[in-house]
Amino acid sequence: MSVPLLDLWIGGKPTPSRSGRSGDVFDPARGEVIRRAPFASAEEVGAAVSSARTAFPAWRDTPPLRRARILARFRDLLEARRDELARLVCEEHGKTLPDAGGSVQRGIEVVEFAAGIPHLLKGERAEDVGRGIDCHSTLQPLGVCAGITPFNFPAMVPLWMFPVAIACGNSFVLKPSEKVPSTALRMAEIFAEAGLPAGVLNVVPGDREAVDAILAHPDVAAVSFVGSTPVARHVYETATRHGKRVQALGGAKNHAVVLPDADLAFTADALVGAAYGSAGERCMAISAVVAVGSAADPLVAAIAERARKLPVGPGTRKGIEMGPVISAPHRERIRGFVATGATEGATLVVDGRTLEVPEAGRGFFIGPTLFDRVTPAMSIYREEIFGPVLVVLRASTLDEAIDLVNRNPYGNGTAIFTRSGFAAQRFAREIQVGMVGVNVAIPVPVAFFSFGGWKQSLFGDLHVHGPEGVAFYTRSKVVTTRWPASEEEARTTLAMPTLG
Ligand code: NAD
Repeated sequence: MSVPLLDLWIGGKPTPSRSGRSGDVFDPARGEVIRRAPFASAEEVGAAVSSARTAFPAWRDTPPLRRARILARFRDLLEARRDELARLVCEEHGKTLPDAGGSVQRGIEVVEFAAGIPHLLKGERAEDVGRGIDCHSTLQPLGVCAGITPFNFPAMVPLWMFPVAIACGNSFVLKPSEKVPSTALRMAEIFAEAGLPAGVLNVVPGDREAVDAILAHPDVAAVSFVGSTPVARHVYETATRHGKRVQALGGAKNHAVVLPDADLAFTADALVGAAYGSAGERCMAISAVVAVGSAADPLVAAIAERARKLPVGPGTRKGIEMGPVISAPHRERIRGFVATGATEGATLVVDGRTLEVPEAGRGFFIGPTLFDRVTPAMSIYREEIFGPVLVVLRASTLDEAIDLVNRNPYGNGTAIFTRSGFAAQRFAREIQVGMVGVNVAIPVPVAFFSFGGWKQSLFGDLHVHGPEGVAFYTRSKVVTTRWPASEEEARTTLAMPTLG
């Protein structure tokens, strides 16, 4: 059966791709190809950058208040089409409809933040920094910015980037994941409907060729990337070598530390949601639990009981809590990790490989999996599995737990579960991770804070959205002004001016 080939979005309209290369887009719940994503060629990326470059001067010179009004309309249209977008996310990614709706909502909140841009772009001003001399700072856009996004949040991660960049006065080229291209293309249409001038946002689905064309293009000023750590490192190293500003967010292994005084039922509920929600395909998913002292046995039993009962099936069906993973090869990779974990000596408490979803046809399902007595040397702990696999390690003390988390090369998110304010405060202060939850398993910052990890979870200096997002997409300029009142005042000397 032939399936439709999607277009690129360049210059404010759908543009058929002539690259001759494309990839299958699956419905992971049925395991069937539903459409094809064009793989933009380097020339097509060039056309998108050129369209963004042409649109930039007029957009930069559009007063921030007018830009903000277009963002506010975009917000309203996204809100009105939230269910439609959630269905697209669910169809191509596989996460459940409520989960998809929640992720669209978190993206809309970034648009709300970006609609406040006139206030966010205000600089500082000081009078009389010298006799008759004033000084002020301004934030100005960079030019053409680009975003490269992963498969796991087809709406939310692109929305972390382009609304903030565009509100700041930049134009934008987005390269969404070739596995889930439709949501980004639909959002570009909706933004155009909200009044965004043609060329300010362009969308080019593609693979490595498109990414490398962006990284080397002389007219791209800045690159935001979200994806796995090896690609994040490649993007950071290549784009900085080409003189660009880069924020490259990578993979994760997020730990939850559970102290013996934690509320057991509350903690187990939270960890099941954080480990198995979105089939574990969240960069903030909890994939490792560090159970301290006597917390371990009852916690493992409570998680296992819940994991065994978790309703798994197509994300569109009511009552389903966990959908499929993104692809057949990814499911095989996860199954491989489960097999290795068992041979490495970990205790396999719940084995998701045995799951059967009878009506799923060829859907890419694997059930929740739980390992106990895992050690830091095991590959199921060292590697990011990015599936519904939770590993439990045991520690004797909070010190030992903190040390274990801090020795991990990733530093995206972490959480502590306890009733002790003292322990929580110490943990939050000493842990070397960018986003920390206290009795909050997935501490994704709201849009007006910034999102980002430490260590190998982020290459670059600035996190996304919130104040750091505005800093990333602007550069500051300081203007020193003097209007001499008389000829005598205007006279200069050759000595270094001290302004006093
Ligand atoms: P990925 O790294 O495979 O792909 C991300 C993007 O890079 C895609 O657009 C893809 O087309 C492109 N890409 C892939 N391989 C490339 C290559 N060799 N050269 C150039 N470009 C390439 O990631 P994914 O599988 O789509 O997403 C899952 C990963 O993303 C996980 O590691 C997850 O932790 C991470 N992630 C991180 C965050 C975060 O905020 N830190 C958020 C979401 C996802």
